[in-house]
Amino acid sequence: MKRMSSLAYHFGVKLCFYPSSKQNKIIKLNYDAQRFVYNSYVGRNRSNYHAKHYLAVRQYQAMPFAFSALNSYEARLAEEVVANSELLAKPKNIRDTYSFLRVKEIDSLAIANAIQNYQKAWSNYRKIGHGIPTFHKKRSDWSYQTNCQYPKQKEAFLDNGTARFIDAQHVKMPKLGIVRIAGFRRLIKERLLNHIPTRIGTVTIKKTADEQFYLSMQLGSDTAFVKELPKTQSQIGIDLNLDNFLTASNGSMVANPRFYCKAKKKLAHAQRVLSRRQRWAKKEGRNLRLAKNYQKQRLVVAKLHDKIRRQRNDFLQVLSTVLIKNHDLVVAEELRSRNLLKNHALSQAISDVGWRKFLNMLAYKSKLYGKEFITIDPKYTTQRCHQCGTIMGHNGYRKLRLTDREWVCPMCQTHHIRDWNAAINIIEKAQVIWSNPIIKKKKVA
Ligand SMILES: [Zn+2]
Repeated sequence: MKRMSSLAYHFGVKLCFYPSSKQNKIIKLNYDAQRFVYNSYVGRNRSNYHAKHYLAVRQYQAMPFAFSALNSYEARLAEEVVANSELLAKPKNIRDTYSFLRVKEIDSLAIANAIQNYQKAWSNYRKIGHGIPTFHKKRSDWSYQTNCQYPKQKEAFLDNGTARFIDAQHVKMPKLGIVRIAGFRRLIKERLLNHIPTRIGTVTIKKTADEQFYLSMQLGSDTAFVKELPKTQSQIGIDLNLDNFLTASNGSMVANPRFYCKAKKKLAHAQRVLSRRQRWAKKEGRNLRLAKNYQKQRLVVAKLHDKIRRQRNDFLQVLSTVLIKNHDLVVAEELRSRNLLKNHALSQAISDVGWRKFLNMLAYKSKLYGKEFITIDPKYTTQRCHQCGTIMGHNGYRKLRLTDREWVCPMCQTHHIRDWNAAINIIEKAQVIWSNPIIKKKKVA
């Protein structure tokens, strides 16, 4: 059977599901187990690191008397290091040590995934260079991962793995049993009825802070999940900016919906109530998890946040699909939002609009539907006049500021709308790259 990575097409589905109270408990148990294993790895490795460091320094200080015996504290430390390293050496050791991890409701793959995630966190740290793995807090949103396995099957289908679809509305999950699902009904039905080989990869089980349950599945197949969209022979450049969400090179504009700003007042009020209830509970010495009114309000806040998230997501999904559907080539600037986010006044507005998410959507949708999406270096896209190529800020011309929404080119006297001009520059820059086979080859490689 083919591995997930060697399949031609990949597709992620996110399905709502509705667990019974018993299944709810199993999900919590697995989430707790996964967190426990992850945190044991963090904690034991961390104390090992410090102990080794301490012992090395002591050893160095004792150099003249190299064979000086360890005192009782140091001996215990050395023993602990050995014990910790032994426990972490093999993934199965942790399950052998702690009996509560051997309860039959706990998915062994959830534990394996916790260890894998810990190792992934380290490799990410080595690649990117900041943020070593830290303890996972107990949260009101839960999630854990498991995998669909095909131990003996010759070919993977949606209905013959350890996680499998019973029909378009029911999934059987390892440990959880059968759950009712909603979403992607047509796609699932078609694949089940026509016996299209489809492999299920990692499955993430998630509960949001406002008590909604989701199953995220990675699907892989050699048959495309969606039809490619017809070619339109149209190309477009988009300039992302704060006045409106985007300006396109054909002059059209999409306003910035500012969902967060609109809901801010309501959210601020709800959060004030929440922190007041937290103060009360604390004053009376009650446990927050048992403080009913606090928990009620926590749900209100979570629902408000979730509403904003869904509104924004929907807006981005619709817009990115329209762009990909109507154009063969979509070009945008590379984002430098890390620099932009340093500007505090802009940062709230920027994180509200979700540009990065939008560009990611464009990237995967263009692949899915057989279109092209590229990003280009944002250098001079704003400052250049697209008519004559004059660059503002050079040859004694005054550089354009953020407040100059419209300007007149001092060379050719063309009147420009700032963002529209930028969008045209973006598409022209991409066309230069695309028409030059040498640069194109370099870009693609
Ligand atoms: Zn000009």
